[in-house]
Amino acid sequence: MRATLMYGAGDVRVENVPDPVLREPTDGIVRVVRTCICGSDLHPYHTMPASENGSPMGHEFLGVIEDLGAEVTGLTKGDLVVASFAFQDNTCDFCREGVQTSCRRGGFFSTAQAEFVRVPLAAGTLVKLPVGEDSPLVPSLLTLADVYGTGYHAAKRANVNPRTTVTVIGDGAVGLLAVLSAKQLGAEQIILMGRHKARTDLGREYGATDVVAERGEEGIAKVRELTGGDGTHTVLEAVGYKEAYEQALGVVRPGGVISRVGVPQYDEAPIGFSSLFGPNLTLTGGPAPVRAYIDQLLPDVLDGTVNPGKVFDRTVSLDEVPDGYRAMDRREAIKVLIRP
Ligand SMILES: [Zn+2]
Repeated sequence: MRATLMYGAGDVRVENVPDPVLREPTDGIVRVVRTCICGSDLHPYHTMPASENGSPMGHEFLGVIEDLGAEVTGLTKGDLVVASFAFQDNTCDFCREGVQTSCRRGGFFSTAQAEFVRVPLAAGTLVKLPVGEDSPLVPSLLTLADVYGTGYHAAKRANVNPRTTVTVIGDGAVGLLAVLSAKQLGAEQIILMGRHKARTDLGREYGATDVVAERGEEGIAKVRELTGGDGTHTVLEAVGYKEAYEQALGVVRPGGVISRVGVPQYDEAPIGFSSLFGPNLTLTGGPAPVRAYIDQLLPDVLDGTVNPGKVFDRTVSLDEVPDGYRAMDRREAIKVLIRP
């Protein structure tokens, strides 16, 4: 089959690799109908040391079940399914407590930008979709694999509700869907910090009441101006750089919550008296257990109440995936859909 491999920063290739096969009786094989490029794929795209062995890429996919191991229950060959970006049994104690990304048997996908994917723990990972593979809902359904659930996780962890004001940092797909999620959870003031007009326009459509294009001290001052000088109750950080964390500290209200879903590209950041401790702030967030949210978010996607698939503004074939990475890296595309 054709699959995407990264050989180092800026070096993405599509090559022939062996077709995946069932290894465990709990596995499934999915023929990929749509996959996509994630903002988090850009981190290795910037920093991966050159290697002679390519690393497979991709963790978001939706497709048709091609084969199933003997122990997989609840699914049938031919089902259209979406997978969470982490696989899990969805039955262990951590899964039952809603942290499926810490599943005792789980792990993360890394081979999804391909024609076929081997799915460990298929019964706990794949969710059957009640539409056909040519449905116009497919792009929105694919966002349930990661970006929509991740934006929603940021808002849930921050306990966004009708009484909380919200700042979202980052105008990538996750930031935009954090705006949508905050709106769904009832927030009335949602300030989106982002500089790319096409993106922030979609943010407004998703429910942002204000857009702040400035960054750093200037951006912080702007958000404070919009909130009577105090900042917002919650900050949803969807970038992952230390500057974004510092920006979050600057715009959060005393007693508030910073919820991070951008994969942190730093190990040390301010947590002392003058930053986190003094104002009684809560720091939360992490890899989203999107499997926990798919069932909740699915009905509004199916009936068209929300259209998270609008974050996809470019579609490429598998062989054009290197162009897709370039387009996302240059901010020419918000998120690139791949049609194998
Ligand atoms: Zn588990």
